[in-house]
Amino acid sequence: MNPASLYIHVPFCRRKCAYCDFYSRALGDRGDDYVAALLAEMDESRGFLPSPPDGRPRLTTVYFGGGTPSLLSASQLGCIFEHITRSFTLLPGAEITLEANPDDLAPDYLESLKTLPVNRLSIGIQSFDDGELAFIGRRHTARQAIEAIGRCREKGYDNISIDLMMGLPGQTPESFDDSLSLALSLGVQHISAYLLSLEPEVPLYRSLQKGLWQEADEELCATMYDRLSRRLTAAGFDHYEISNFALPGFRSRHNSGYWSGRPYLGLGPSAHSFDGRIRRWNAADLDAYLRHDFRREMDNPNREARYNELVMTRLRCREGIDLEQLRQSFGQELHDACLFTAQKWIESGDMRLEGGRLAIDPDSWIISDEIIRDLIQV
Ligand code: SF4
Repeated sequence: MNPASLYIHVPFCRRKCAYCDFYSRALGDRGDDYVAALLAEMDESRGFLPSPPDGRPRLTTVYFGGGTPSLLSASQLGCIFEHITRSFTLLPGAEITLEANPDDLAPDYLESLKTLPVNRLSIGIQSFDDGELAFIGRRHTARQAIEAIGRCREKGYDNISIDLMMGLPGQTPESFDDSLSLALSLGVQHISAYLLSLEPEVPLYRSLQKGLWQEADEELCATMYDRLSRRLTAAGFDHYEISNFALPGFRSRHNSGYWSGRPYLGLGPSAHSFDGRIRRWNAADLDAYLRHDFRREMDNPNREARYNELVMTRLRCREGIDLEQLRQSFGQELHDACLFTAQKWIESGDMRLEGGRLAIDPDSWIISDEIIRDLIQV
């Protein structure tokens, strides 16, 4: 039986960043109540995952995301881990990631984290330019970020990922280059870089509408993405997914599971789960969650929706689509239709067909949305 993944959504932030639409609320004194609700949900939900006869699903990755998981104390995280080890079988070498904000990674906090099985830190940096950080409402400065990463390395963390953003207000190719140079000088093993994308309800979208700043145009974004890919690849990073780069052996195993269709259980308000066929998700409602009312919805996607999902997720990755798997899962007709549509992209050099796999050429990932839209069934 294939192992699964566990995602834990920690829905708290000290302050809302101006661009963020992830579900999060102020922590206040609700940490212990949240942990109690989470453990109850774990008991109620673990049967969602495929289980061996001992009833304990096997986990290959655990990911604490948010929100800001580093707002939980080490003892609250310890309670959650105890419950995880009672409820699941953690496979040897399981990847256990904690998302953290740089200003939470004080020496004492890092010291207490070392008592827990966290072996990967994912740190939200976004930029090493203080003006850019302030504009988007981040709590930390570039110096705090640099010092936090240094402390993590001193404490022995040797699997550190950082997030960067492109298309920030006021960002130029030069300031992005400077952020990249700093990122590369800090000895991290994994870098994720995302283009700023704004939902209408976030403050940064409203200030854009008021003309308080100017959105980066396509050409500027393409320039930054090109520099990102070239500089990180030249530094030995594997550009293994549209937005993700890893030194050899340091791909995110948790996120790779999402892209390859591995089952996962998501716990916490707004968390999503997938058992290999059915998708379900909790309501984004912390108050209801704290009353142990998870308010779930469920979707059993039809064949077209599952095909579209496969195309969208696999084509984000360098390995692309395994065509034999596509044929076995969806039949010869959809397999042939996919290849027929892909032919023009193969001829233009934007896609590659090699070793039974169909993939977007990394040099063409900047137009991946257009290619994927063309390949999915509407
Ligand atoms: S800390 Fe992260 S989750 Fe919280 S508001 Fe900022 S970007 Fe969103």
